[in-house]
Amino acid sequence: MKKIIALNKWVYYFAEEGSEGRASDKNLLGGKGANLAEMGYLGLPIPPGFTITTEVCTEYFKNDGAYPAGMMEQVKANLQRLEQQIGKNFGDINDPLLVSVRSGARKSMPGMMDTVLNVGLTSKTIKGLIDKTGNPRFAWDCYRRLIMMYADVVMEKAAGIEPEEGKSIRQLLEEKMDEVKHAKGVKNDTELDADDWEKLASDFKEIILKTLNKPFPDDPMEQLYGAIGAVFQSWNGKRAVSYRKIEGIPHDWGTAVNVQAMVFGNMGTNSATGVAFTRNPGDGENRYLGEWLPDAQGEDVVAGIRTPNPISEYMRSKSGSQLPSLEAAMPKIYRDLRKIKTVLEEHFGNMQDIEFTIQDGKLYMLQTRDGKRNGPAAIKIAIDMFSENLIPISEALMRVTTDQLDELLHDMVDPEAEKTATIIGKGLAAGPGGATGIIVFTADEAEAMAKAGHKVILVREETSPEDVHGMKPAQGILTARGGMTSHAALVARGWGKCCIVGCGDIQINLDTRQMTVKSGDKTLTFKQGDWITLNGTKGIVYADQLNMIKPNLEENDTFRFFLSLTNTIRRLGIRTNADTPADVRRAIGFGAEGIGLFRVEHTVYNELKPMVLLAMQKLILSDDPEEKEAALKEFGKYLKEDVSDTLRVLNGLPLTIRLMDPPLHEFLPISEKNVQMLEKAMDISRKQIDKKRAELHEQNPMMGNRGVRLGIMQPEITKMQCLSIFEAAAELQLKGIKTRPEVMVPLIVDANEFIHQAKIIREVAAEVEARYGLKLDYLVGTMIETPRAAITAGVIAKYVDFMSFGTNDLTQMTYGFSRDDVAPIVLKYIQDGILKFDPFQSIDEDGVGVLIKWTVDQARATNPNIKIGICGEQGGDPQSIAFLNSVGLDYVSMSPFRVPIARLAAAQSEIARQEAVAAELEAAGN
Ligand code: PEP
Ligand code: MG
Repeated sequence: MKKIIALNKWVYYFAEEGSEGRASDKNLLGGKGANLAEMGYLGLPIPPGFTITTEVCTEYFKNDGAYPAGMMEQVKANLQRLEQQIGKNFGDINDPLLVSVRSGARKSMPGMMDTVLNVGLTSKTIKGLIDKTGNPRFAWDCYRRLIMMYADVVMEKAAGIEPEEGKSIRQLLEEKMDEVKHAKGVKNDTELDADDWEKLASDFKEIILKTLNKPFPDDPMEQLYGAIGAVFQSWNGKRAVSYRKIEGIPHDWGTAVNVQAMVFGNMGTNSATGVAFTRNPGDGENRYLGEWLPDAQGEDVVAGIRTPNPISEYMRSKSGSQLPSLEAAMPKIYRDLRKIKTVLEEHFGNMQDIEFTIQDGKLYMLQTRDGKRNGPAAIKIAIDMFSENLIPISEALMRVTTDQLDELLHDMVDPEAEKTATIIGKGLAAGPGGATGIIVFTADEAEAMAKAGHKVILVREETSPEDVHGMKPAQGILTARGGMTSHAALVARGWGKCCIVGCGDIQINLDTRQMTVKSGDKTLTFKQGDWITLNGTKGIVYADQLNMIKPNLEENDTFRFFLSLTNTIRRLGIRTNADTPADVRRAIGFGAEGIGLFRVEHTVYNELKPMVLLAMQKLILSDDPEEKEAALKEFGKYLKEDVSDTLRVLNGLPLTIRLMDPPLHEFLPISEKNVQMLEKAMDISRKQIDKKRAELHEQNPMMGNRGVRLGIMQPEITKMQCLSIFEAAAELQLKGIKTRPEVMVPLIVDANEFIHQAKIIREVAAEVEARYGLKLDYLVGTMIETPRAAITAGVIAKYVDFMSFGTNDLTQMTYGFSRDDVAPIVLKYIQDGILKFDPFQSIDEDGVGVLIKWTVDQARATNPNIKIGICGEQGGDPQSIAFLNSVGLDYVSMSPFRVPIARLAAAQSEIARQEAVAAELEAAGN
């Protein structure tokens, strides 16, 4: 019997008809390859080609740079298929097929965009290209481009050569090109003729041989294999590795390689190349935002070598560009692009970032992918696409990351400060918001200075993928060249970072680490270390450090509408941790549905009411019972005022008030000045204060007389707090204001502690109800912040109306890590890989999370009506919110500024949970 050996498929063909892959094959074909296949499937005009899979890349690195068996044969077979389809042969000296070789990872990585165009041109095949096209200028231009790219990508980068700053092979070749232009007295590449390019191609080869000690290969297959290998190699290049680290992209994903028949945008004035977003990635406006260049190849647009033309008349008038738009120059092509926009957006249900080439009046699509966008644009696009019925609500909500939402909470330059500031330049507004920092001119220095704690603005001629490690920690990025689709603009937008590109007013001298700008008839000089400020929303650069302010989100309708969509899906309630009316108002403005934690002790530290602290200190220091009682009453009066103000703002929303928690010694003065003030105010000696401090001293105060223990040791303190709370509620109720106080007992370890305190709380409530002649709408509950309380939650639940996880203390006690001191140890643990993350920021699902889940299950078993929430810091962390949603909490509570993020995280986690349940059901049904 014949044995059938199943051969691995390493290469997939794509074409307008006959694509072997689909968009869903991104893991295998990379984003670019999968979407090229999909565009073929949609019948869009793409040049045919083939994709070598990401699996080849993984195998390549596993086997020390050896390709898997059968891969080369498949490359050859696909090349033949391509030759047949195009009707030209690779390496044919009469009419050569030329190809591009490009990388394409699963997730777009502008950090490793290695591309080699025009592969297949040699000293022999170029003659065929000249004869066939009758256009020697075009052919020599293609050749010199191949030589430049090949030398850069294959012969230098992939070979692991690290040139000095300013001395890379690409820069040396560009310098040569500038020299020729200068000698000829021209400015643009388009002004060089065939002879110039031919001469340059030969000069380039000489420079390459001299600099890299290797000749530029003159064999087409050698070029092709070299380019494929270089793209794979680039996956593990320095810049790609650092980009992946920043973006959290796994190193074992690998990149695919796309080999595609060349189409030429540089064949004359009826040819062009361009890039565009189907909607504006800066503000979400539903119009093409793009750039094109006549008689050029793709890299020219992104590299910022020539100033690109605007794509539409609308964009031209908006940017004030003098250059003709594609809409005006090639109206038919522009109309085709409009149709393609609709096809792509309807098909992918997302804003697309496209690349296209026009060869002699015919449009070709070279790439489409979901476009990166900043926070404001993400929100607008999500809402618009939902309104246009392109995506459902759930998809609209998943489209905006919590980080993008966070961008809207970012700083802006204070407009008042801008009025009097010195403008030193204007550029394109590539990344919104404001940034202020000291100038640095190289990515390495930006990284080092930022590490040393400085706020830096990275100022570059233009950025390249090698700069990402310095771009990330910079407050903002400023480049002298490049357009809205330049590297700096793309990367900054992806990160939501403030960025200005193409600021031609500045002249950078890297050697002296200085930049100069012309201001009127003066020339201003800025050194490294000088402060500047960027307004990335307007594209203006200012001298000096300007004041920054937070944007007013309460008046941002798009933001509010988007957040309102979260309410249709999320299951988790959203509360806030706040104890001042201003904070409560802000949190409610952001959509908080009540207060999950009002810490009574925070009323003591009110800068505007120093007498509250004094009353507390009197309470602690007096030995005379009458004086003590008077102090307690006085403190009760202030607490009542604060509770009343807060309940009034809440207007019927729940207010969880946590009874006094910290050890009392924390209220005694420490500084000399405060001790003296207290001595005067109380007519008490320093000795007496010190004596009291010694009495209250505990070896381990965090585990000492605090929380519920305080209330059991001094029940009168609990009583007084409850009197304040219930009287405030009753008096408001009499005025027709609805109140819902929820009294919360901290730090219990046993149900009996709660029973003890609840008796006092309910007695006071009954007394107030009788005195005011009304019924109060109140609850009594406890925090779960000790492991024992979690373990015995089933018993505790029988007596409480609600529970709230205090995960700050619960984490402290589960780990035995002091929450106030452990930060440097946790940092070291994370660096050494002992811990994966800081458990005080994100819930530790394997430890603390197990206690939380146990608590919820046990508590619900004995008290099905119990309400369970969280008020520890982790309650505002998106990852923790997903976990808390999955274990079935009723609400999460966090600081006011995190409320919007929590609303989105709660909705997204519920969508993900429902999808997982549906998938499970479907799997079970099959
Ligand atoms: C907690 O422990 O998580 C909590 C919310 O209380 P505090 O931070 O006040 O101890
Ligand atoms: Mg606590």
